[in-house]
This record gives sequence, structure tokens and C-alpha cells, in this order.
Amino acid sequence: MRAHPAGPLHGSIAQPTPAGAPPADLGALDPHVWPRTARRVDGEVHLGGRPVTELARTHGTPLFVLDETDLRGRAADFATAFDGADVHYASKAFLCGQLARWIAEDGLHLDACSGNELALALAAGFPPERIALHGNNKSPVELRLAVDAGIGRVVLDSFDEIDRLVPLAAARVAAGGAPVPVLVRSTVGIEAHTHEFIATAHEDQKFGFSLATGDALTAAVRVIREPALRLAGLHSHIGSQIFDTAGFEAAAHRVVGLLGQVHQATGEVLGELNLGGGFGIAYLAEDDPVSPADVARRLRAVVEAECAMVGLPVPRLAVEPGRAIAGPGTVTLYEIGTIKPVRLGASGTPGAPLVRNYVSVDGGMSDNIRTALYDAAYTCVLANRVSDAPPALCRVVGKHCESGDVLVRDLWLPSDVQPGDLLAVAATGAYCWSMASNYNYLLKPPVVAVREGVATEIVRRQTLSDVFALDAVLTDVPAPSPAIDQPAPEHPVGTTS
Ligand SMILES: *Cc1c(COP(=O)(O)O)cnc(C)c1O
Repeated sequence: MRAHPAGPLHGSIAQPTPAGAPPADLGALDPHVWPRTARRVDGEVHLGGRPVTELARTHGTPLFVLDETDLRGRAADFATAFDGADVHYASKAFLCGQLARWIAEDGLHLDACSGNELALALAAGFPPERIALHGNNKSPVELRLAVDAGIGRVVLDSFDEIDRLVPLAAARVAAGGAPVPVLVRSTVGIEAHTHEFIATAHEDQKFGFSLATGDALTAAVRVIREPALRLAGLHSHIGSQIFDTAGFEAAAHRVVGLLGQVHQATGEVLGELNLGGGFGIAYLAEDDPVSPADVARRLRAVVEAECAMVGLPVPRLAVEPGRAIAGPGTVTLYEIGTIKPVRLGASGTPGAPLVRNYVSVDGGMSDNIRTALYDAAYTCVLANRVSDAPPALCRVVGKHCESGDVLVRDLWLPSDVQPGDLLAVAATGAYCWSMASNYNYLLKPPVVAVREGVATEIVRRQTLSDVFALDAVLTDVPAPSPAIDQPAPEHPVGTTS
């Protein structure tokens, strides 16, 4: 890339705005994108029957508001669609004690990707036999926790891991316990993205055993011959935010082929096929995800057809949705702090706006890194009121010391938005709170669950005292008071006049 002075050069490359034409109603809550209970009452957004200004006043901003009806409704949709199969909630999307309890109550399984996710689920009382542990570098301590807790599945990812697990499993068997149930994760050479997938002969990535090199078969045979382990089946996971079932169908074809190879090599008929997660959600009105019912129908059809071809009985299916359960039901509330109109250059496309408003809010990449990290697309609305002011092209940015600190790259907001207004960003339930950081010593926001008019803080806001406690010099130093991280009582959020 050629370096140049900031500004004018970009400005003179007349680009049509990616925000498209302004929508007819800037304040509309598209039911496709917003939580199931979101609606406007007298102009103000309500979630789970609670007005956003009251939520912000009570809990401060930034604030994750989780619509329990939405999240549990989506979990139930998957459970119903995959009746007779196992639905594992992929907890890396978002996990806390309350969520673990809901998922347990609703009868789903849970995937952990680290020993600490596993420890959290166990601490919340999640039934161990319904937990699977993933990870490409599970430590001996993590494996020991899994074996001692008696979890349902360890998803094997490398030969080193098998070497590490066998002595732990053998000790359990020697003490009269059952062999440790495992899956072999195979990398099937299918990489799926939003609307397309790539099928390759091999995969250049860190997860799983390669099917193409024969490692997956070798691993399966080795596990079958190991008395302390029980090979329950095979696993594959092909990507994330996928809108099409074609990638899953291609993966199912290859992994059923591996079932056939295992049968040929050992005579063993494996009973379980886990096709992973990655089901897409609507972040924007134009996104068009497949329903759980359609996904279930197509996956069943392709697995049945493939099994018939290799002459094997149809195994029990499992899937691992994370985003599709936790993503759509949560919104993030922010308070606007500053608005800066920035000139885009004199000679733009005729008709294109010449000014972009940088709308800065009180959080940013520390509570939602996905825009900065993956160029993810989000939408947001003015939440505390409606406005009939004409649309203005805006970019919603955070308060971090980093110009990539963008939350919503391009969108239209009413031109009269002002400091003190509340913005709600849609579909932030997955991979936002769980990826939060303390960059610039900003503090992790709380998560408030709303349902039928009741708001419950299920994760409290991190405090500066929490952070000082980790610092050798500051452990015993009191955090400033009034604390920067705590909204003052009756903080006049969202009250613009
Ligand atoms: C991340 C992950 C998932 C969940 O992915 P989503 O896109 O959130 O559905 C499921 N399975 C495995 C193995 C994963 O790594």
C-alpha cells in the first residue's frame, strides 16, 4: 500500500457509500434482526418489557441486554428441529452461570473450548455427561478435569492429546471407572464462509486430524484399539456464520466416507456423527439465515443418503450452534458522548453525502471487537426516542485510542442525534462479551437479562477495584471515588431535551 497524507486522497476516490440508500424508517426494528420481544413504546425501545432508558439508568452503559425469551426460544427451536439428535450449545459464544443453567434446564448439551469454560459449566451445576470438551491444545490439567468430572465427550484433536489422555483414562479404568468416551475431530477439507464453501484436498489449519493424509483414520483406529478410551464417533466443524447448507452437505459426504473407512479397517460401526456449528444469523436486514428446521431436514437427508451409499446404519447426529442461539437475542446499549462531522472530500459521487458523522459512544472494541477484527457488519438504532429528522451518514465508533475502533462502519441515523442519546446495536449476544478485553483499562460491561418486565443482572459490571486487585502495586490502593466505572445513581442517561 502506498503511503499518503491522510484524508484528501481517500476523499477524492469517489466511492458510493456502502450504507446504501437511507431506509424509509430509520427507527424501525426489523424483527429479522432485533430480539423477539423488542418493540417501540411511545418511541422508546423496550426489551423484554423494560424501557432502555430505565435499563441504562439502573445498570449504566455500555450494557448488554439479553432477551431471555429470544435466547431460550432459539435453543428450543434447535432442540425441536433436531429431535432425536443432540444439540450442543457452543458456549464460547457467550457463557455465564445463568446461561449454563438455562441451557441445562432446556435439555441441551454444552460445548466447552477450554478447561475454564468447562469449570464454569460444572460450577453452575451443568450435568457433566452432557458436556463435550474441545480444543487443539488441551493441557494435562484440562484433560484431568474432564476425566475426573466424567464429561460426556472429549473431542480429540491431535496425537499428542491422545498420548496425554490415555494414562489419565487408564488410571480411571484401573480404579473401576468406565473408559473415557471420545470423538475424533476430522478436518474434512471443507471451508465454509457466509455464502460459499471451498472444498480442498487438505486443510492448512490447526484443528483436527486431516482426512486427506489418513491421520483421521489412523487416530480413529488407534483409539478403537485403546481399551481405556471409547470411540463414540466422529466430529467435523467447517466454519462460522454460514448461510447455506451446501458446505455441511459436502462435509457430511466426506465424514461419512471416513465412517466407512473406519468400518473397513476395524469392523467397528460408529454410532455418532457431530457436524459442528456455524449456522449464520441476521446482523443486517438483508442477511437471510436458514432456519433450524431446514438445516435439520437437509442434514438428515444428506447423512441418510451417504450412509445408504456406504452401507452403514445412520448414526446419531449432533450439532453445535453457538451464535445462532446466543447472538440475536442480545443488544448493546451505549450512550453517545461526542459527534464529529467529518468532510469526505469535495468531489464525491454526485448525490453521495459529503459529510460523515463520527458518533462516539462510551464503549467500543473492548466490548465488541468483531468489527475491528473481522470487518463484521452491525446495525443500530437511536433507542431512547424516535426522530423524524432527515437521515445523516454516520459511523459509530468507540472511545479507544485506536482509529480501527469502529462498531458500525456505515449507517444512517437521524441527523438530530446528540450527546446523551442512547444507541442500541443489534445481535451482539455472540462473541462480544466473551471476547471483551480491558484495553485502555475500560471495564467489562454487565449483562442484564430481561423477561416479561423483569430485569436481572446476570453478570455485574467489572469495577476498577477488580482490576486494581490484579496489580502488584495497586492491590490495596482504593479505586478513585466516585468510581469512573460506576454510573452515578440516577445518571441522566438518554434524557435529551
Ligand atoms: C466455534 C465452534 C462452534 C460454534 O460456532 P458458531 O458459529 O457460534 O455456531 C461449534 N463447534 C466448534 C467445534 C467450534 O469451534
